Amino acid sequence: MAHNEEYSLFEDVCSFVDDAAQHMKLHPGLLEQIKQCNSIYKFNFPIRMEDGSYQVVKGYRVQHSHHKLPTKGGIRFSEMVNEQEVMGLSALMTYKCAMVNIPFGGAKGGVNIDPLKYNATQLEKITRRYTAELIKKKFIGPAVDVPAPDYGTGAREMSWIVDTYEAFNPEAINAKACVTGKPLSQHGIDGRTEATGMGVYIGIREAVSVEEDMLELGLTTGLKDKKIIVQGLGNVGFYSAKYLTEAGAKVIGVAEWNGGIWDEDGIDIESLKNFQLANKTFEGYGKGKFIENSIEIMEYPCDILVPAALENQITSENAPRIQAKIIGEAANGPITKDAEKILLDKDIMVIPDMYLNAGGVTVSYFEWLKNLSRVSFGKLEKRYDMEKFKLLIDSIENATGDAFNQAQRDAIIKGASERDLVISGLEETMVEAYHEMNQKRKDKRIKSLRTAAFILAIDRIAVSYNDMGIFP
Ligand code: GLU
Repeated sequence: MAHNEEYSLFEDVCSFVDDAAQHMKLHPGLLEQIKQCNSIYKFNFPIRMEDGSYQVVKGYRVQHSHHKLPTKGGIRFSEMVNEQEVMGLSALMTYKCAMVNIPFGGAKGGVNIDPLKYNATQLEKITRRYTAELIKKKFIGPAVDVPAPDYGTGAREMSWIVDTYEAFNPEAINAKACVTGKPLSQHGIDGRTEATGMGVYIGIREAVSVEEDMLELGLTTGLKDKKIIVQGLGNVGFYSAKYLTEAGAKVIGVAEWNGGIWDEDGIDIESLKNFQLANKTFEGYGKGKFIENSIEIMEYPCDILVPAALENQITSENAPRIQAKIIGEAANGPITKDAEKILLDKDIMVIPDMYLNAGGVTVSYFEWLKNLSRVSFGKLEKRYDMEKFKLLIDSIENATGDAFNQAQRDAIIKGASERDLVISGLEETMVEAYHEMNQKRKDKRIKSLRTAAFILAIDRIAVSYNDMGIFP
């Protein structure tokens, strides 16, 4: 995939901030403070391999903004991890949280390894040692900095992190809230695994529901029969594709780093994912056409392109050839600054990462709240609500002489489970934020949804600093 040495995600993010600042009246000192990373921690630690040899592993944790605490953001395991990347990703977390009104500062962590080259025992050693390094410098804790999964990590790694943290802090009653994205059995929350993909689906659904915007793009409203290309079939790409398909869209292309599938009849995402899990490749998948040079798939014709892999995928090199009408950034930073200019000139709508993939951190926030209160959502009131709705239905039936049918009764009486509440909170966050961002774009008479999103986010961060009496 497209990667070059000079590219700096952090510089791109800063330059997006500068664009937004041109539409705002900000104290120049405040702008500089908002842009910089507050704390950067980088470290090396040795890992003893099974053959007795040692490897020295590079770890990072960057806290971009302390305007709200704790700071929040995932931990990435990838060979591409470097300081600039983690800085850029941590900055994006700040703007993402502010954009969707989640009360955290931004952070990000990374370990420079290819997780595919290690077995589970070695990965556990690396994760626990990385956590111990964070504990040493107080770079992790429920009130300080709360990691989560990112590219190359998942619920398993989060359970190692929480276990290590608890071992070092046996009396901390809130210890479970030191990390989110944990397995359910380790006090995770129902819906966190699929949250980012579900948020991507909700965000795209909202975008295509606005008639005047779709008219400008020459598209009909609604997801039905929209042709979609997804790049990356990891957690985020898979769930985005799954929910978009369930809503009536048709996924016609899926690109992975080691080849892609193209099928204009529509791809069965679950069956393709199962094939990939079993074979580690799409090659040999019975349906559609296998495309070896998968980066090209992003240039094929479609209505909506969803890059869901890594940053720096659509650059000034391939942007002129992109044919999609809408690009939904499910990954962090998939479009470079220069590429975005080209795309906007071609009248392509870009739904920015800091909004579109915010579903993950939103549900992380719910998990953190659940851990702090030590009770799952719905546990206290569910049965009580059900009894009350039952009484209400019975009195309506008595008063009117009419009876509800069983399906209606069940739907009304059903109390909200933890999952129902999580999904409802996620919907509310994503729907509200989309229309707020789109309205800001229209009010400011600008083309870029990203600039609108940055204006909203920076405004909220500026208010925090002003209310603290800094840069009033
Ligand atoms: N790594 C995810 C992101 O980039 C989730 C972060 C979190 O839940 O804290 O948004």
